[in-house]
Amino acid sequence: MSEQNGTAIEIKNPHHEGEMRDGREGHKLIIIGSGPAGLTAALYAARANLNPVVYEGDQPGGQLMITTDVENYPGFENGILGPEMMQIFRHQAQRFGSESRYEYITSVDFSERPFKLKSDRGTKLSADAVIVTTGASAKLLGLPSEGKYMGYGVSACATCDGFFFKDQEVIVVGGGDTAMEEANYLTRFCKKVTIVHRRDEFRASKIMRDRVLANEKIEVIWDTVVDEILGEDDPVKKVTGITLRNVKTDTVTKMPVDGVFMAIGHKPNTDLFQGGLEMEENGYLVVKPGTSYTSVEGVFAAGDVQDHVYRQAVTAAGSGCMAAIDAERWLEAQEHKDRVEVAS
Ligand SMILES: Cc1cc2nc3c(=O)[nH]c(=O)nc-3n(C[C@H](O)[C@H](O)[C@H](O)COP(=O)(O)OP(=O)(O)OC[C@H]3O[C@@H](n4cnc5c(N)ncnc54)[C@H](O)[C@@H]3O)c2cc1C
Repeated sequence: MSEQNGTAIEIKNPHHEGEMRDGREGHKLIIIGSGPAGLTAALYAARANLNPVVYEGDQPGGQLMITTDVENYPGFENGILGPEMMQIFRHQAQRFGSESRYEYITSVDFSERPFKLKSDRGTKLSADAVIVTTGASAKLLGLPSEGKYMGYGVSACATCDGFFFKDQEVIVVGGGDTAMEEANYLTRFCKKVTIVHRRDEFRASKIMRDRVLANEKIEVIWDTVVDEILGEDDPVKKVTGITLRNVKTDTVTKMPVDGVFMAIGHKPNTDLFQGGLEMEENGYLVVKPGTSYTSVEGVFAAGDVQDHVYRQAVTAAGSGCMAAIDAERWLEAQEHKDRVEVAS
């Protein structure tokens, strides 16, 4: 027991190996993913005595690990660095007995219960319930400079980072609805927004296109790609410009900008669940509206992997909480059913 704010808290041993079942390590609840959704689910599940095991995957802490300041997560009045915030999430869940494993789930079999999973270290697992929180990845151009300045002028989320670019000049890369939405949103803060698009027309819906083209703060550079993001590291790391290449003429130009917003789409991390869980056409997992129930009973989904609309840390965390509560109630109902069957 420990004392915090005058309240006694029981601290459990986080190192709980599962029982062996048919040569597999068995757990009540496995959580795949360790972003805000996975670690919030872990917190709630741990406090419900479910001994959750979190498979943290290839990006422990999730997408916020590649950003700097997070200013819109409630509770952090002065903002907080993304990686720091995710460490707090992890520690808070571990305090109640959640276990983190730095492994990647490579296969799942949801065709019968208990579910079967395997990790990249070859660990064979079985789980009574699974919460999927594998997130979605912003598509990027793949330039080394893009990674270098991510969080220092390069962003993949205008809602998250637009506020940092007050009265500055930014570009938005893309030509679909997301790019139009991001560009329009950024005009609330920025002096000027330039959309850089590799074709001579937008793929976006007409209504979104028209809105952008009518916005006086937005300019469009057609038939052009970003070849490089320019920046400086001293005295502060920041973006200072971009190198552009016209794809029709091959002309290369430099343009000074303060920020670069990538808006070329997101890819939900759902390859693992192809054929196992119902998905929308765009690959996002389908959940029963207002719940975290997927198409397979006992498998729940939360966070960006099932949300292509809001994609925020707080919404991911909120749905992680829902998934843990859904899983806990579902497991309880299963146990009750089993008890009744044994008794009769
Ligand atoms: C640069 C950037 C800045 C952002 N800034 C903000 C911000 O300021 N405010 C805000 O609210 N939102 C921000 N966001 C959005 C926010 O990060 C996401 O909405 C949020 O992280 C989604 O959480 P999640 O838990 O659903 O998934 P993610 O954070 O995407 O986490 C997914 C997790 O799944 C794991 N995983 C994937 N596949 C496997 C597998 N097979 N096995 C095991 N694990 C797996 C990964 O390792 C990762 O831990 C930002 C996003 C980016 C990219």
